[in-house]
Amino acid sequence: MCWTVNEIKKGVWHVDESGLNAMYVVKGSKMSAVIDAGTGIGDFKGLVESLVDNPYVVLITHGHVDHAGGCGQFIEAYINERDYQAALNIKVEDRERYLKNMESAGAVAPGSLSIAEELKNDKKPEFRFMKEGDIFDLGDKKLVIYEMTGHTAGSVCILDEADRILFSGDSVNDLELICAPAKDREALLKKWYEAGKRIFARKDSFDICGGGHCLIPIEKAEETLTCGEMILSGELQAKVEKVHFFHAPFYKYKDSRLYNGDFAALHSEDK
Ligand SMILES: [Zn+2]
Repeated sequence: MCWTVNEIKKGVWHVDESGLNAMYVVKGSKMSAVIDAGTGIGDFKGLVESLVDNPYVVLITHGHVDHAGGCGQFIEAYINERDYQAALNIKVEDRERYLKNMESAGAVAPGSLSIAEELKNDKKPEFRFMKEGDIFDLGDKKLVIYEMTGHTAGSVCILDEADRILFSGDSVNDLELICAPAKDREALLKKWYEAGKRIFARKDSFDICGGGHCLIPIEKAEETLTCGEMILSGELQAKVEKVHFFHAPFYKYKDSRLYNGDFAALHSEDK
């Protein structure tokens, strides 16, 4: 079994996919929601349908392989238009490569990945677009979409005020990778920071961030935003560091690190 499932609030489940990434299932009175689809290494759709018994929408926080890779198990999935092409382009080989890299980097215990036939599923859902201000009405709860360009061009956060959770995708991780393509990287960082400030101005509405890889306390997420603020004000300098399997210039504030650059360069070992 490749999942660890925890009910973090009544009717809200955090699904950990082999220690690699996090998906969430939110049960509403009329409708439910699935937030991210993981890499798609097992029957995630089956798992979702064992947790909720009403219709559900699938919302993808961004188009990376470890979040959108499994969305082909579903008929329909919502994503921001700016990440549509990335999600559409994910191939079986990309998902396999990602898992192999993670395993060889020690991100999962050797041999602990249980990969089912679903990994070979190369179908794509019918993508629908979601944008800033869109509301998914689940009956007793509403999910509100906030765009937060930075990690990718089309990254979104999803606020569930009834359950007091901000599903933050990869937008405020303690190892934050600002990797959206940009000619002016400082302008991109500013855009990410300002979107984050606007979202966290609403922090009275949530108690925790449901991040794309784990749960994140609000103070930790704000530390990451402060790191961005200090880069913009010139108070922090980047230092080349080896962090996990990355070797690249990172800015560091307390325990938060931020990288602002090309995604491909981040994985380069010879920098
Ligand atoms: Zn990502």
